[in-house]
Amino acid sequence: MKNESEKIKIADCDVYIGDTSLRYLPAVLTKLVSSFDAVYILTDSSAKKHVLPLLKKSIPQLKDKNIITIKSGEHNKQLTTCELIWDKLTKLGADRYSLLINIGGGAISDLGGFVASTYMRGIKYINVPTTLLAMVDASVGGKVGVDFKGLKNHIGAFSIPKAVFVCPKFLSTLNRRLMLCGFAEMLKHALIIDKKYWNELKELDLKNKNNWHQLIKRSIEIKKEITENDPEEKNLRKLLNFGHTAGHALEAYCIEKRVDLLHGEAVAWGMIVEAHLSFKDGKLSLEALEEITSTIKKYYRLEMPISKSTTLINIMRSDKKNKSGKINFTLLNGIGSSSIDYHFKDKQIKEAIEYANGQF
Ligand code: NAD
Repeated sequence: MKNESEKIKIADCDVYIGDTSLRYLPAVLTKLVSSFDAVYILTDSSAKKHVLPLLKKSIPQLKDKNIITIKSGEHNKQLTTCELIWDKLTKLGADRYSLLINIGGGAISDLGGFVASTYMRGIKYINVPTTLLAMVDASVGGKVGVDFKGLKNHIGAFSIPKAVFVCPKFLSTLNRRLMLCGFAEMLKHALIIDKKYWNELKELDLKNKNNWHQLIKRSIEIKKEITENDPEEKNLRKLLNFGHTAGHALEAYCIEKRVDLLHGEAVAWGMIVEAHLSFKDGKLSLEALEEITSTIKKYYRLEMPISKSTTLINIMRSDKKNKSGKINFTLLNGIGSSSIDYHFKDKQIKEAIEYANGQF
């Protein structure tokens, strides 16, 4: 049963999970397009090397000429790359009835989803996530977009993929650093809603052959529970932002300064900052704060590129989650429970940043 594929439905999107899930892709495509000529593929150099050959083996009808390859990495998740892809789609003859398959990590699903949702007022798209982070988080839920002028995901939309195909076997070519990036989002899922999942994750040895299928499935279920009730983040979907107000500020700083720090690493640090705020607000016990901090420290070795908290607080002021100029935080009420819409004075945020920086 472990290797069997299963399907979770999130709104109108079927998420197939399992190493054999790509078996269902041809039938899904046949339902969505009139011919395989109308299927375009967006990928980046690493995903193309590691995963595309497997996909093409499953669906030999896919046309080589319809493959669009971009450079990998967060620096390319920007409007100029969208222009290149829109241009390529136009030259290749893609029309409103075409479909885009995004094969890659979270940068590809965010960018490709945005390109698809805007090309000719929107074409259908499918995600085939190839990193742990994209499998557990970025490829499902319909948030798509690009970074803009030093701000994370500042330009974007809500646009649900038609289907997502999660194959845990693709993880075999990911290095430990990239595995840890996805693991940070899994820890977040556990912290905001599921203590039992946290207890399982905090003891996980990433080097072991873990049952990734079941772990990924649990994260996707949590994302389903939260996003189905609030697809456009008016309310409880904000729970998923835990760790991300501080994390995005650090990540944006690093993108701007070309510092090598990845999204998941920034989120791991951001979760310590926001756990500290939760503690200071009287919601989280000292014992729980220490458990969260020591667990994150056990997995992540970060070199903090910046010690000046005011720079990061200034970046937070432009975060798209803010309302009426107030920086918005999601806090923990305990391990496995969270609440939304908290605001703090700069002094308190500074103290939390200093606490987190002191851990690395
Ligand atoms: P990424 O997409 O940049 O991928 C990381 C690296 O892994 C890239 O170099 C890529 O080429 C390589 N890669 C991809 N698949 C591989 C494979 N199977 N084997 C070896 N290498 C492979 O980064 P990521 O960590 O996947 O995603 C981060 C992005 O996701 C950020 O832009 C973040 O903002 C976004 N995100 C979005 C959401 C959402 O809900 N939309 C949620 C969380 C994160």
